[in-house]
Amino acid sequence: MMIYLDHAATTRPESAVVEAMIPFLTDNYMNPSSFYQPAVRTRMQVERARRNIAQFINAPYDSIIFTSGGTESDNWAIRMGAKISEDKGKHIITTMIEHPAVLNTARFMQEQGYEVTYLDVDSTGRIDLESLENAIRKDTVLISIMHANNELGTIQPIREIGRIAHDHGILFHTDAVQTFGHLKIDVNECNIDLLSASAHKLYGPKGIGLLYIKDRKKFAKLLFGGSQELGLRPGTENVADIIGFDKAVEIAACKMDADTAIISALRDSLKSGILNNIRGAIINENENEHLPGTLNVTFPSVSAETILIRLDLNGICASAGSACSAGALEPSHVLIAIGKSEDESGRTIRFSIGRENTQDDIDKTVKVLSELFS
Ligand code: PLP
Repeated sequence: MMIYLDHAATTRPESAVVEAMIPFLTDNYMNPSSFYQPAVRTRMQVERARRNIAQFINAPYDSIIFTSGGTESDNWAIRMGAKISEDKGKHIITTMIEHPAVLNTARFMQEQGYEVTYLDVDSTGRIDLESLENAIRKDTVLISIMHANNELGTIQPIREIGRIAHDHGILFHTDAVQTFGHLKIDVNECNIDLLSASAHKLYGPKGIGLLYIKDRKKFAKLLFGGSQELGLRPGTENVADIIGFDKAVEIAACKMDADTAIISALRDSLKSGILNNIRGAIINENENEHLPGTLNVTFPSVSAETILIRLDLNGICASAGSACSAGALEPSHVLIAIGKSEDESGRTIRFSIGRENTQDDIDKTVKVLSELFS
């Protein structure tokens, strides 16, 4: 039996999600823009999904634009978000530990003549709010800071970041791909202007996400075409995936508290199992502000590859650094930013626990790791 401890990379779609999608891949295949009644009913289902998902983050119905996932939403938020206030200036603030979808878009913006400040983080991966205040300039047009980091699980103080951005009249984008469906988010309370999310991180389908846009009147189109997605992101809707996303959100809303309690306990158990059995193992975390299921560990002396292979041979799936950069042997930019050496980065593993994991999974993982280090 496989033990899947890589939920930050992706999650298994819930069977209720798959079931909800099937009718829209079979009988209800109509184009939601068509005139006849079955198509109108499909359109109503898409709009119902949009309304439910909007409510989940306390957003108005028409502020949710469906996209192909987190990467697209991040690209769009930064490229178009910065453009809104182009007359004010060309300065963007982000952090050193963003996902490549943000970092590489920020680099692209630099090529377009923007200046980008990459904020440092402390050894736990948190930004310093005073540094953020100090980085703000008259020409700052966008702050893009992730809600929680995909490698460390560290949660940023987005409420305070939103307040600072709001006080200075600067647009605030947050990449909430790791938190949407796992933590409560209220876009109004946090003064969020733009938010990216992706369904496959919350037991939904891959290739569907959203961008929350507070004020879409000022927002530029990403693509040119028909009038779908309020004219901002044209193209025939990915109906089945939108329905699956909605179902995943509905389940997340019901299960969030229970999931958090169970998953946090499993994480605690994995953490103490590793610390009690492997001398020299270091947990890279912010003890108070972390995702329930993500545990990032630097192991002594053995390379991440060797550890991953041993885990894999025992049916255990985990990641070195983030999934997006795994395969490339470069050290993780996140681990380097929190002060790890290249060598330490090369001995670091991310475990991410999810809804279907059990105490047996954790016990077996601790056993396999303990044997490797004995
Ligand atoms: N942002 C973060 C923090 C992520 O963890 C990921 C995926 O790993 C993405 C963005 C990209 O999302 P998607 O896979 O939906 O493009």
